[in-house]
Amino acid sequence: MSQISRKQVKTRSSHQCWGCGKDFPIGSSMERQTEADGGQIWSVYWCDVCMDYLSSMPDRMEDDQYNFGELVQDEEYLKFKKHRESGWLLSDGHMAGHA
Ligand SMILES: [Zn+2]
Repeated sequence: MSQISRKQVKTRSSHQCWGCGKDFPIGSSMERQTEADGGQIWSVYWCDVCMDYLSSMPDRMEDDQYNFGELVQDEEYLKFKKHRESGWLLSDGHMAGHA
């Protein structure tokens, strides 16, 4: 499997995030990753939270390590998401007040 492109897009239809499996409505900001494998081409979409999580741990950037919706079973991910939603984490992944 190889990645052809990755691009930040505003979605033109609703998509589920590959990482967390959540539904995102039209107009959401998501990263579209296009993959090719054995003559097939397809795209998967990742939401901001999942992308931030993945980029905060570079050794996990291999997307094909994850099955659909698998991130929500990852305790580290749940912690990350909770911190982010409560404003403890800045968008660059650093803890607020600990820069
Ligand atoms: Zn997600």
